[in-house]
Amino acid sequence: MKYASTRGRAPVLAFGDVLLAGMAADGGLYVPRRWPSLSPEALGGFPGRGGYADLAAEVMWPFVDGAYPRDRFEELVRDAYAGFGHSEVVPMVELGDGLWLMELFHGPTLAFKDIALQVVGRLFAEELARRGERATIVGATSGDTGSAAIEAVRDRENIQIVILHPRGRVSEVQRRQMTTVDSANVHNVAIDGTFDDCQDLVKAMFADPVFRDEQRLSAVNSINWARVMAQTAYYVAAVSRHGLEQASFSVPTGNFGNVLAGHAARQMGLPVERFIVASNRNDILTQFFNSGSMAISEVRPTLSPSMDIQVSSNLERLLFEMLDRDGIRTAELLEGFRATGRMRVDARISGELSRGWSGVRVDDAETTAAIAELHRQTGMVIDPHTAVGLAAARRSRRAVDGPLVVMATAHPAKFADAVEAAIGAPPAMPPALAEVIERPERCEHLPNDLAAVKSHIARCTAQ
Ligand SMILES: *Cc1c(COP(=O)(O)O)cnc(C)c1O
Repeated sequence: MKYASTRGRAPVLAFGDVLLAGMAADGGLYVPRRWPSLSPEALGGFPGRGGYADLAAEVMWPFVDGAYPRDRFEELVRDAYAGFGHSEVVPMVELGDGLWLMELFHGPTLAFKDIALQVVGRLFAEELARRGERATIVGATSGDTGSAAIEAVRDRENIQIVILHPRGRVSEVQRRQMTTVDSANVHNVAIDGTFDDCQDLVKAMFADPVFRDEQRLSAVNSINWARVMAQTAYYVAAVSRHGLEQASFSVPTGNFGNVLAGHAARQMGLPVERFIVASNRNDILTQFFNSGSMAISEVRPTLSPSMDIQVSSNLERLLFEMLDRDGIRTAELLEGFRATGRMRVDARISGELSRGWSGVRVDDAETTAAIAELHRQTGMVIDPHTAVGLAAARRSRRAVDGPLVVMATAHPAKFADAVEAAIGAPPAMPPALAEVIERPERCEHLPNDLAAVKSHIARCTAQ
């Protein structure tokens, strides 16, 4: 399998290069040159052939074929999911009225990003080892991504990881999930500044070719193709392992990575009727899917902070396909959007999108009400991101035939304040989270100063 950039001007690469590169040299994102078809075994749920990890390896295999021996790849994927807190890895619960909840939060940091990053971290270490290289992963986080990336690569000999977070601006649980990891290759830095300041520092380091090469900087952000690839498997599992003939999915969306993986599964032959792109008050995608145009505005804070995003990077991969895989037109559209903050697609494309997609916006009051209502009806407790997906699904229930699966993206204990406000009591604390409250923290505190951060990173990697 070879990969091409959505902007058409970067070299075509093999999987291992795409994995390590992250973004393409022309500013685009890598996509597979063609969609493989799901095997009959994958579509049949892999009866009698092991658990979720084996199905996931089967679904991913055409994307990595040629990069690793099959049995080594299967071993890495099984190892990635061995530490999950539920034997089914991604269990599904029926809510009635054709609604299901797929729980994607049983990984080590209790959010759905673990499902991809636990695989990607292992592939990264494997790829570096085969090349005899090492890397320094640098990233900025406002919450869930930092801890999921740290857990994915902790204790790897050929990887150092440095995560910047805005000092005092991430929740205590989120900070402790990062700072209590006791591994020599993990380096947390609290920056005096905002999340955007942290992100700017990271961008400035990547923009410095000397520093970048010297430190072998790398990223595992959500535009990395390997993350999307790993997420396609649970869409297949939702349909094939539960005997559904087809399904629709309601996906709480931020950077568009999760739902794009569903799109990939549909392109591979999974029978999906509709994707409901669920947003909070930051509803730029709702505008887009309902009107074919969108305009950027200020990011507004909500109860579902991991979805407080205006520019959803992974949408570029869908636009590229809607433009018949024409990289030059995709580049024009996205460069225009960056310059003006506005984008419109033509009537043919918006017509095509309206057949398989809808955008639904859910505000904070509805989010709280959805948590409270489900709790009242079933005793189940969900987090505010999942609640956005559930409220969007209930509102769309009559517009879709057949089963409708809501993606549950975080454990409620990660967002305890919002949950307590909805149901009047704090959610139960799983042992993994209770533990981080006890353990000592390790974190460097630095000013918002590029030179200071660079010399700190150089010290970390010199160990
Ligand atoms: C990251 C995240 C999302 C958004 O996922 P995208 O792939 O960026 O659309 C939703 N919910 C939670 C809990 C997250 O951590």
